Amino acid sequence: MTQVQLRPAVAALPPYVPGARALVGAAAFKLSSNENPFPPLGSVVAAIADGAMDVNRYPDMYATELTEAIAAHLGVNPAGVVTGNGSVAVLGHVLAAVCDAGDEVVFPWRSFEAYPIAVGIAGARAVQVPLTADGRLDLPAMAAAVTDRTRVILLCTPNNPTGPAVRADELEELLDAVPRDVLVVLDEAYVEFVRDPLAADGLAVFAARPNVVLLRTFSKAYGLAGLRVGFAVARPRLAAGIRAVSTPFGVSQLAQLAAVASLRASEELMARVQAVVEERARMLAGLRAQGWQVPESEANFVWLPLGDRALAFAGESARAGVLVRPFAGDGVRVSVGEVEATDLLLEVAEGFAR
Ligand SMILES: *Cc1c(COP(=O)(O)O)cnc(C)c1O
Repeated sequence: MTQVQLRPAVAALPPYVPGARALVGAAAFKLSSNENPFPPLGSVVAAIADGAMDVNRYPDMYATELTEAIAAHLGVNPAGVVTGNGSVAVLGHVLAAVCDAGDEVVFPWRSFEAYPIAVGIAGARAVQVPLTADGRLDLPAMAAAVTDRTRVILLCTPNNPTGPAVRADELEELLDAVPRDVLVVLDEAYVEFVRDPLAADGLAVFAARPNVVLLRTFSKAYGLAGLRVGFAVARPRLAAGIRAVSTPFGVSQLAQLAAVASLRASEELMARVQAVVEERARMLAGLRAQGWQVPESEANFVWLPLGDRALAFAGESARAGVLVRPFAGDGVRVSVGEVEATDLLLEVAEGFAR
């Protein structure tokens, strides 16, 4: 060989496609990345500004104040909370802590596009289980996909990009069916937007099941996508392993301060989440009144199963000033944001042949 070789698993990684961004100077609503449409609260901006004078110093490596604030907020043991540079990074650390080369990770598909990448980087084997026809996770099929080599099952609830949440009863069945040494990761990036009373309660499940780990983020409901803070909630023994493989000083001090300030302001922020939930209902109802078949959504986005016409829809929507996230050949994910953006999106959807 005459040149440096990449690991085969790395050469085979699918790219992570970010949501479209507006061209500089162009007016557009960005409904392509499931971001929070509201600007940060004044109290959060003040916390970031206060921290700016200390950026010559390393952050608190263990994010002590943030970890304790998260634990108090959720009613869990702080020894089980592991923060990271966004929950995508934390997922990578979870997999690094438990997967050896060739181990299998079962996850739904289509789901969060970071999953195949994270599994590939870990050197594990991806076992993708198709969604049901109505965009739900197929938990019986996922349980049936478990083999002797399975180390992890990833459950995205609500599922990005389709929207439905896993129900409590189906999750119990899956957990009863899989071996106790298989880690079940509940990626709850959108948990604050869930309103379905039948949806699984991740914290209660975590309390009862030592092989469950929760992943949560400040990027969506808390509106801190730009600062990159997420965390895992695990049993302390597992948390110690996840911490051991984490990037040292992985969460900047500004991000730690902003996340602590956001937890302090959580009532104010949850009122914003409620506004998004109401806007989601309006978008879903508007689409359905036009005759669209859209899955239920418990998150801050809705899914249009457009198949081959996904890119065409995204193009038309962009021309109307609304950026959405197409998945070629599959569908379009539309984040719920500004009221005006919903109006424009509904206009595009009305004119688009179904
Ligand atoms: C947005 C999202 C995340 C959060 O990612 P961060 O790295 O915390 O910004 C995690 N999981 C899913 C399914 C998501 O959609």
